[in-house]
Amino acid sequence: MSAPLINGKQVSEEIRGALKGQVELLVKQGLTPGLAVVLVGEDPASQVYVRNKEKACHDLGYYSEVHRLPDSTSQEDLLSLVDKLNHQDNIHGILVQLPLPKHIEEKAVIDAIAVEKDVDGFHPVNVGNLVIGDDSLLPCTPAGVIELIKRTGIEIAGKHAVVIGRSNIVGKPVSLLLQREHATVTMCHSRTANMKELTKQADILVVAIGRANFVDASYVKPGAVIIDVGMNRLDNGKLAGDVDFESVKEVSGPITPVPGGVGPMTITMLMQNTLIAAKRLSGLV
Ligand code: NAP
Repeated sequence: MSAPLINGKQVSEEIRGALKGQVELLVKQGLTPGLAVVLVGEDPASQVYVRNKEKACHDLGYYSEVHRLPDSTSQEDLLSLVDKLNHQDNIHGILVQLPLPKHIEEKAVIDAIAVEKDVDGFHPVNVGNLVIGDDSLLPCTPAGVIELIKRTGIEIAGKHAVVIGRSNIVGKPVSLLLQREHATVTMCHSRTANMKELTKQADILVVAIGRANFVDASYVKPGAVIIDVGMNRLDNGKLAGDVDFESVKEVSGPITPVPGGVGPMTITMLMQNTLIAAKRLSGLV
């Protein structure tokens, strides 16, 4: 029997609907959430992501600014733009689209973003707050993963969650958030021995590797919740996850498809973070 789908597109639309209602009320009180997105260079995928963010802002009634800078932009000029945005009152969230050109040090740029406007959740202070369990702006994709698991109605507390992948932007923060929800978490990576023995114990399996269709049914405990973060472009132009959806759905519990699973949640959580940042900066929460 096929597992139920976790429909990220639908969940995302529900959350955006709720955000839109909140924004309408805030605008009446004189507060319009503002997001600045900075894109350096011509990377085609980044251009698509930035256009989608601009559109999401427009649809939800946010103020948005997109700064499209040439590939030759110096680190100094980028840092002065970030500094300007840090001090701009109508901007509550700043996102510098990654990756940056090689001559710019990403860490220097992330560190320069005001912590309270760091809606990507990548600033070391926000990461540190996540580690110690303090309030912080959460990284968008990991926050989306947790939201999708919660929407299945399955209790996370007490479950064994296995996360494959330990990157700073997905695997590590997902593991921390699952621990915060009281799961027992095992992290796997490229050096993990006997990975299948571990993944087959998982009640919740989150996969963020970056290898198309890597996890097949032989990795999965029957009934497990499967969250596929992977986005891999195949030679035929189609998008594939890290999970072999067709085989896994025959044994798993609720499962995210690719596309239409985690992907749509990332921008939605960015919009949510921008609203949170706007309220905090305006003293409303
Ligand atoms: P990444 O930085 O390349 O990290 C990949 C992780 O997977 C590493 O920790 C690596 O282990 C591990 N890994 C690689 N091969 C493995 C193997 N054979 N067995 C076990 N672990 C293995 O990638 P990422 O940025 O986390 O992204 C992961 C995937 O998520 C990509 O497909 C990316 O496109 C996608 N993604 C999607 C969204 C979204 O919005 N849906 C957002 C971000 C990323 P080591 O640490 O040992 O090298």
